[in-house]
Amino acid sequence: MQYQSFIGLEVHIHLLTKTKVFCGCRSAFGDEPNTNVCPVCLGYPGVLPSLNIEAMRMGCMVARALNCRIPEKTWFERKQYFYPDMTKNYQISQFACPLGQEGYVDIESKQDLADGTALGKAGHSSGMAFKKRVRIKECHLEEDAGKMIHTGSVSLLDYNRAGVSLLEIVTEPDMETGEEAERFIQQLRRTVRYLGVCDGNMEEGSLRADANVSINFPGKGLGRKVEIKNLNSSRFVRLGLNYEIQRQGEMLDAGKTVVQETRLWNENRDETMPMRTKENAQDYRYFPEPDLPVFSPDAAFLKSVEESLVELPVSRAKRFEKDLGLNGEQADLVCEEKASADYFEAALSAAVSAGLEPKDAALRIVNWLLQDIKHILSREGIPLHDIGSFKLNPKRLAALVALVGGGQISVKIAKQTLEAVLAEDKDPEVIIKERGWERLSDPAKIAEIVQAVYKAEEAAFAEAREAAAGGNGKRRQTLTAFLVGKVLAASSGRADPKIAGAQIEALIH
Ligand code: ADP
Ligand code: ZN
Ligand code: MG
Repeated sequence: MQYQSFIGLEVHIHLLTKTKVFCGCRSAFGDEPNTNVCPVCLGYPGVLPSLNIEAMRMGCMVARALNCRIPEKTWFERKQYFYPDMTKNYQISQFACPLGQEGYVDIESKQDLADGTALGKAGHSSGMAFKKRVRIKECHLEEDAGKMIHTGSVSLLDYNRAGVSLLEIVTEPDMETGEEAERFIQQLRRTVRYLGVCDGNMEEGSLRADANVSINFPGKGLGRKVEIKNLNSSRFVRLGLNYEIQRQGEMLDAGKTVVQETRLWNENRDETMPMRTKENAQDYRYFPEPDLPVFSPDAAFLKSVEESLVELPVSRAKRFEKDLGLNGEQADLVCEEKASADYFEAALSAAVSAGLEPKDAALRIVNWLLQDIKHILSREGIPLHDIGSFKLNPKRLAALVALVGGGQISVKIAKQTLEAVLAEDKDPEVIIKERGWERLSDPAKIAEIVQAVYKAEEAAFAEAREAAAGGNGKRRQTLTAFLVGKVLAASSGRADPKIAGAQIEALIH
């Protein structure tokens, strides 16, 4: 039986504020446990929280990037629960009027995803790509809880994370497959990294997702939802959801009903397991946080939010495709990080200033980026988001590209030059000049090399002449190319292949 499936995500992101959301403690991952704490985040009685405006600003940036409405007034509530990771016994969160409301994002989906390949690799899947709108229910700002570390019979608590700024993004149940959810998370991750408000590191828990999924008979609306927790990679989101859709389908096929519950993803067994049943919505007894005033964003605040927004990865990639002729896969890869997209555009504008035509320059730069540069970055252990620190800066790449484009050097020399630029931290023009690597286009000088090749390759010349006489044009061409290659090799790639070719042709006839 074919069922309809519904997926809604709740994604938590750690905002990159220097301090926590309601106190001045340092907000950092990996510090000595319980060193970034104070009476406020430890929940001592009688202390007063105060809102970190940076957290509110970053939260609103995400809300705007997700096309949410920022209300005229927004406030905080206390969400009561009793758990050792939350010493106050309540979490300050937002409930009735979150900072971002009713937005949407468009994700790219594919109809046929049977092969289960990552959607990030555009073009690898056979299905038709189409746009899918995922509505965002809300974005709300809250404080994170402490971290529990269970070791054998004891549990340890680290409160460094307690009070760290957390933004929760809740979608409507508009996705249908694990692949769509994976795509949503990848796109959201890129977006928050572009905005500079979250590092998006799922392994360290700076971006965490809970996935809700239900299935039902077609046309019957939402089913009874199961929530999957503990998904610390976008791949697990995909696997966990697809496993659940399958499991729930088998239950309905067998005439059983799905129990509303919370399940955990077990990454060692590739399956979800029951954690707790949630019959009714938990009663958190929300009430407005009396120690924090209502926040009414003023014009200056909203202006600073709008000014911090950057062109988002999806539209940037689309622009590169439309205006510069990159294909979908190239544009997607170039826009993987804001730093790489910035690098690409800086190199492009320098190459255009040097006289190249924009589309031609774009294609040349992309080829360098996705081949040689990518290879060197991984060889040198430079992550793509650090490409800004690469010794071949955009100006130097543009110089190389312009020199190749203008015929002053060959691609082979350009590659050699690139390595020398890295080794000596000098501009390509300087390296080329110092080493005498400019293209050799003086016919007399090339003729000397051609003569040497003529002597060394007598047999090849004879055969070419024979082929020419016998009307075997193909063979003659092959041999000419071979001889031009010899001239290039003898000149360390410097000789102009056109001039060398013409001289060889003249010797054959
Ligand atoms: P709860 O009160 O249990 O937290 P919410 O209404 O706040 O539930 O929704 C939490 C998430 O679950 C949202 O992302 C929402 O889209 C999703 N969701 C809600 N109901 C369903 C359902 N029946 N099937 C799939 N997802 C659902
Ligand atoms: Zn503190
Ligand atoms: Mg909820």
